[in-house]
Amino acid sequence: MTEHSRTLLEVKDLKMHFPIRRGVLKRTVGYVRAVDGINFAVQRGETLGLVGESGCGKTTAGRCIVRAYQPTSGEVLYHADPVVDFAQMSLHDLKAYRHEIQMIFQDPYSSLNPRMTVLDIVSEPLVIREGKAPAQFKEEVAGLLRKVGLRPEHMNRYPNAFSGGQRQRIGIARALALRPSLIVCDEPVSALDVSVQAQVVNLLQDLQHEFGLTYLFIAHDLSVVQHISNRVAVMYLGKIMELAESSDLYRQPLHPYTEALLSAVPSTNPDIKRERIILTGDVPNPSKPPSGCVFHTRCPYAKDICKQQVPAWRAMSDGHGVACHFSDELTLKGVH
Ligand code: SF4
Repeated sequence: MTEHSRTLLEVKDLKMHFPIRRGVLKRTVGYVRAVDGINFAVQRGETLGLVGESGCGKTTAGRCIVRAYQPTSGEVLYHADPVVDFAQMSLHDLKAYRHEIQMIFQDPYSSLNPRMTVLDIVSEPLVIREGKAPAQFKEEVAGLLRKVGLRPEHMNRYPNAFSGGQRQRIGIARALALRPSLIVCDEPVSALDVSVQAQVVNLLQDLQHEFGLTYLFIAHDLSVVQHISNRVAVMYLGKIMELAESSDLYRQPLHPYTEALLSAVPSTNPDIKRERIILTGDVPNPSKPPSGCVFHTRCPYAKDICKQQVPAWRAMSDGHGVACHFSDELTLKGVH
């Protein structure tokens, strides 16, 4: 398989700037730069973790990819035959690809319509595509429920009869209904109890192997994506700060922001005491991002140049990439 055909999704210089409107005339007075020129590719069958604090733009990036938002600019290249650009496609043309790419949402309580039965919810994508009644898809829904560890005889129940973990399984069954190639998982476990999180992550991994799925897995901390991701991209204030194979990123981070996020990952070895790096200050306002390196207002290693010059993306031969002026001088702590 060539390098090109291994790629399923390529995101190029993607931007999503939301206008800030004020006054009676709703004049545009600025823009929230939620996503500000990000680049990455997702290979077929892999899981790419997309991580960063709340407000860093990761969910907005996911929504641009599935075209819940129309991106301000950039490309979202989906490697079908031929390659198509979701970012520029009309909603009418996009319909032909809707089955290829699905999303699992963060909150299993608000993402399921409480007035619909499980049968209605899971069959909804099939009903829309084929124009038949939900009852026509009972067999498919029963199969999907079994795949996600739920009992088919419960398909006539409503979401409130299920726990948070079970509701997320219903959301996963719905996402699988059209047999997608790519699933954007938007913080799929962060609203769940810690004890249930691992079960849902394990289920996603099992389904990935069974159906050859590709995941973009969005999370706000690195401990959640550690075991599921082949590679991880770290986002801050609308930009990607670092991207690497998971093992490299956890062992030897090259960006100070990644080091800070890693310092919060609990150690599996009780003999290892890790010092938590507490970043001072809040994430800056994305409508007024800092000059130079956007992380300089919170970076413990910042120097004068960091305020003035945007660090260039430094790509290494092993696929590790980083945006920091001092990435080859700093010795940062990983977790292994
Ligand atoms: Fe910190 Fe400077 Fe590197 Fe930005 S460029 S991460 S401010 S050291």
